[in-house]
Amino acid sequence: MALFHKNVQKYCRYFDVESPEQFSLEQWYQIVAESTLDLVYSKPAVKGSEDRHVNYLSMEFLIGRLTGNNLMNLGCYEQIKTYLSQYNVELVDVLEQERDPALGNGGLGRLAACFLDSMAALGQNATGYGLHYQYGLFKQSFEQGEQKESADTWNRDQYPWHSYNVSKTQNVNFGGKIKLVKGDKYEWKPALTIQGKAFDLPIVGYQNDIIQPLRLWQADSDQSFDLAKFNDGKFLNADKTIVNATALTQVLYPNDNHKAGQKLRLMQQYFHCACSVADILERHFSEGYELSDFASRQVIQLNDTHPTLAIPELMRVLLDKYELTWDEAWSICSNTFAYTNHTLLPEALEQWDQRLFKQLLPRHYQIVEKINNIFHDRVIAEFGEDNKVWEKLAILFDYRVRMANLCVVTCFAVNGVAQIHSDLLVTDLFPEYHKLFPTKFCNVTNGITPRRWIRQANPQLSDLLDRTVKADWTKDLELLRGVEDYVDDAGFREEYRRIKQVNKSVLADEIERTLGFAVNQDAIFDVQIKRFHEYKRQHLNLLNIIATYQSLKENPNQDYTPRLFVFAGKAAPGYYLAKNIIHAINNVADLINNDKQVKDKLQVAFLPDYRVSLAEKIIPAADVSEQISMAGKEASGTGNMKLALNGALTLGTLDGANVEIAEMVGEENIFLFGHTVESVRELLAKGYQPKDYYKKDAVLKSAVDFLAKGKASNGDKAAFNLMLDSLLERDPFLVFADFDSYRKAQDRIGQAYLDQEAWLRSAILNTARLGTFSSDRSIRDYQSRIWLKK
Ligand SMILES: *Cc1c(COP(=O)(O)O)cnc(C)c1O
Repeated sequence: MALFHKNVQKYCRYFDVESPEQFSLEQWYQIVAESTLDLVYSKPAVKGSEDRHVNYLSMEFLIGRLTGNNLMNLGCYEQIKTYLSQYNVELVDVLEQERDPALGNGGLGRLAACFLDSMAALGQNATGYGLHYQYGLFKQSFEQGEQKESADTWNRDQYPWHSYNVSKTQNVNFGGKIKLVKGDKYEWKPALTIQGKAFDLPIVGYQNDIIQPLRLWQADSDQSFDLAKFNDGKFLNADKTIVNATALTQVLYPNDNHKAGQKLRLMQQYFHCACSVADILERHFSEGYELSDFASRQVIQLNDTHPTLAIPELMRVLLDKYELTWDEAWSICSNTFAYTNHTLLPEALEQWDQRLFKQLLPRHYQIVEKINNIFHDRVIAEFGEDNKVWEKLAILFDYRVRMANLCVVTCFAVNGVAQIHSDLLVTDLFPEYHKLFPTKFCNVTNGITPRRWIRQANPQLSDLLDRTVKADWTKDLELLRGVEDYVDDAGFREEYRRIKQVNKSVLADEIERTLGFAVNQDAIFDVQIKRFHEYKRQHLNLLNIIATYQSLKENPNQDYTPRLFVFAGKAAPGYYLAKNIIHAINNVADLINNDKQVKDKLQVAFLPDYRVSLAEKIIPAADVSEQISMAGKEASGTGNMKLALNGALTLGTLDGANVEIAEMVGEENIFLFGHTVESVRELLAKGYQPKDYYKKDAVLKSAVDFLAKGKASNGDKAAFNLMLDSLLERDPFLVFADFDSYRKAQDRIGQAYLDQEAWLRSAILNTARLGTFSSDRSIRDYQSRIWLKK
């Protein structure tokens, strides 16, 4: 507190004001953030365990706002709050000034952030390695209902939480030629060298004084490079741009579950890997270890295939710089790397053009070729000369470099992110690999950090849980089981109910501020907040809203439990179909919200610019959590966990972690619907015809026709053709096939909500039974199944 007080005095002079009363909220924010940073780095360094060091490589870290979270983890939140109150300043208002560094797309990036928090909390030695994008994910706004993207300049003004770490700079090479030195020794003569500068953010452990770095690399150089110089014949002819080297880390590719494919993205990936591998080796040696200790001291966890190039990079360094033999280098790599798979969607499995790969990384290409050749012999030995098998397992095939295959062949562990997903990984995506390497595969179900997703996001509920559980459940979320004893306790129930109602009114205010209309706070708050993707099926939700609207217009006096449907989420700028769905939802929302006849019964709020700080506002207020992906497509989901922990009841398919959530909370406390993985398989085998459903189901037909007739687009009948044609002709994610089942589940929800006592009980049990979805449990699973496995 003395330090904080001194800073306040200092900033009086700095901002040229007479007394702290004159500080603006922005100025207070700067003072609080800088002081918290000072506090972080003034602590004596406490180290985690002496076990293997986890190097978590991820192209994305969606860390959200840090100041409030770090104050809480330092144990200073209340003190600062009290200190500010003497100036009539609310700490929450100050913290609202912080921008989200949007250094990730969605779930994958948020998972990396939750994992860093948990590793610090558990004392697992770890360093996060990512990229310091100057523009995070784009900012989303709506114009006439359509998504508009603009640059997110989170990094332009003073951002207090990163510090340039001047002694950690690395050099990264690209292009050029390789020269045979002698025997099997090669030398790489690169065409271009770019500097990687380290920006460190502190990851603060929960009240244990552990601070570990998230190290983000930023490209820097006076050089410009001519992308056309890497040109080989016709291949890159379209692109003759000269790019300043700093451009390399300027943008985060705004893709979620879809491969980006551009050469700048490949350069980014290599830049990320080369800087990180060099830094890991430096740290390893500086701690007094030898190369022979490397695999026993270091693990490199690859968050999806985006950092796969770390594999050939470590091979290259070991072979060319440290002059190890191939077998020695391979032994280190194959015992150091572990790979987390995040998707089965074919369009999201990364593959690079071999020619592009070879131009940018000639030596790495050579190494990958050798891995591929050696593996080929192994496959022949196991499966015979069956070309069909080799076609599937090859790393280099059909002019492509298949990154997932390189990972599975090299890594000592491969994990999926929920049980059903890990099972499908073995049975559907990698069955032959599983036959070759049966012990490599395992499951680690994702988790979320309770520090951010309940303690920070829902302080009132946290306070109630503190008083009820009487132990710090933040460190051990399974302690929330103790809440079950209070599910019939009148006092507890009343408080739990009141807190949900208060949280709903806070969100209602936020909606009124941003969208300009008042919402019915007694309605069911039904939320679907996540990236827009066909497999997540926001259009299934939309079609039900339209059908409900039509039904309410036709029969205004029917029994209907009022609903507020809340949406938030971005679509990749080039994903026109997903943007078409956003447009349709906005237009339908506008129509419904302005129709006095359904007012107070049906409302739709689409909040723009979904990000961590907005998620923290929506989640505590939710009654229903929409997790309605087509079965088999959502690897895990983590939004489902955040919402259920905060007492929302899941409306979901048996997909991803929904399956495990249903097991934990009990089938009577969740609303399941739709096709399962097995029945999807049967339906597709029979030959799925979406038009049959459209013709047979009058409610579905009428909802689809509503859009097709231009009723939500001022008569423009073509406005939503992109979405409608896809649904009517192919419907690859079985929206029509699940429509009826989804509507029936919504009816069950409407009925269930009328019994407020029973609903409350289910909500409480959701909170009480979600402890296993703490990311602390995920990290312990990584430790016992992968990193520290004996
Ligand atoms: C949790 C989270 C996600 C992931 O949500 P899913 O519903 O699992 O797709 C995406 N974005 C943000 C900002 C999140 O906090």
